[in-house]
Amino acid sequence: MATPAPTEEDFRHMRRAIELARIAAATPGASPIGCVIVRNGEVLGEGHNEVDMRHDPTAHAEIVTMRRVGQTPGSADFRGATLYLRIIRSVRRPLTG
Ligand SMILES: [Zn+2]
Repeated sequence: MATPAPTEEDFRHMRRAIELARIAAATPGASPIGCVIVRNGEVLGEGHNEVDMRHDPTAHAEIVTMRRVGQTPGSADFRGATLYLRIIRSVRRPLTG
C-alpha cells in the first residue's frame, strides 16, 4: 500500500512540530525535537524532548507527548491518530558565566 501524499493539514502539524523543536532548542536540558499528536483534525497533545531536563532517558518528545495525552482517563487509545515528530539542527553556544 502506497503512503498517501502529505496534505496541507499534515504540513501545518509538521510546522507546529518544528516550532516545538525550536522552543526545545531554546530550553536548557531539552533536545530540539518536537511532537504533535492529532486525530480527526483535533490536536490531542504536544511536547518536546525532555531527556536531560528530567534526567530521564525515556523522555523522548513522542513519549512525553503520549504520556501527556494518556493522563486523561480513557485517552490512552491512539488508534486513528497521527504522530508528527520533527528534529531540527541547533547550534549549541558555550555557556558564559
Ligand atoms: Zn524517540
